[in-house]
Amino acid sequence: MSLEVIADLTVLYNEPLAKYTAARLGGPADTVAIARTRQALLEAVIYAHQQHIPYWVLGGGANVLVADGGVRGLVIINHTKGVEIDPATGRVQAESGVSLITLARRCLVQGLKGLEWAVSIPGTLGGAVVNNAGAHGGDMAGNLVQAIIMDIEASYEPSVWPVERLAYAYRYSILKGQHQYLVLDATLQLEAGHDPHELTVTADGFIAHRKRTQPPGASLGSMFKNPSGDYAGRLIEAAGLKGHQVGGVQISPIHANFFINLDAGTATDYHALIELVQSQVLARFGVELELEIELLGDK
Ligand SMILES: Cc1cc2nc3c(=O)[nH]c(=O)nc-3n(C[C@H](O)[C@H](O)[C@H](O)COP(=O)(O)OP(=O)(O)OC[C@H]3O[C@@H](n4cnc5c(N)ncnc54)[C@H](O)[C@@H]3O)c2cc1C
Repeated sequence: MSLEVIADLTVLYNEPLAKYTAARLGGPADTVAIARTRQALLEAVIYAHQQHIPYWVLGGGANVLVADGGVRGLVIINHTKGVEIDPATGRVQAESGVSLITLARRCLVQGLKGLEWAVSIPGTLGGAVVNNAGAHGGDMAGNLVQAIIMDIEASYEPSVWPVERLAYAYRYSILKGQHQYLVLDATLQLEAGHDPHELTVTADGFIAHRKRTQPPGASLGSMFKNPSGDYAGRLIEAAGLKGHQVGGVQISPIHANFFINLDAGTATDYHALIELVQSQVLARFGVELELEIELLGDK
């Protein structure tokens, strides 16, 4: 058995990961496998587990900083796309590789209310389920009914997890950082029977707000979690670091919690800025900023 025999799976060797991440940087993975179906995704993960090959599943790579040295092992890119929408009941079932933005748009044009918050969040449904992604007062915890998840340490048989089992909190689920779980599908409950035009106006308002307050360009969104009762961006700005640049990466002059890959930036540049921000904010305000993003690969 080898990866190449799995149907609907494209296998690439020594493949640079920059094009699979929102920050548009990162060294090569030994192997990249792009899964176009749920079965291919499942089989690739099981293969890696059985062969004791270190592996990572990525959706849109919108929340991971891949090291310049790349990743030893297998990176599985989730391109599953199946979506079933019932406009009468508001039930939505989708595979985890679906783009969250696309899904949100598809729901609102069918008059389903509840996912407008997601129209500008990059990444996949799977990543959003893991991270409890959210914005504009909404989040995945507010929409999810259940997910189909494989816990590879328990069984190769996926099972249904009701939302309560995910123990959702702010940008947190029990799956986060726990490598053994694979999200395959998610079922959402939205409100049926709304005016698509009104929903579109709301969604477009969210996008316009983002354009006013957040910078364009290649980034990973918010780098640090907001500490209790404060904002990471405010602290970084107060430490005098807004606009500071290392190599090709800049702390955005528009929003200091966004680090923009301006021009051929590297993960090393990102790391230098992360360390600078953490040490300056700690020294000036006694606050330890915790990363919101995840780090992947050899530094
Ligand atoms: C410009 C910008 C703006 C952003 N704004 C927001 C925002 O407003 N709110 C917000 O919440 N986030 C925001 N983010 C962060 C990001 O969009 C979310 O964290 C998103 O949910 C990540 O999804 P992804 O598919 O890209 O996950 P990835 O980055 O690919 O993966 C993230 C983690 O989830 C795991 N994972 C991914 N898919 C699966 C799966 N199917 N099964 C198991 N594990 C999986 C990965 O292994 C990894 O550990 C922003 C990012 C950017 C670049």
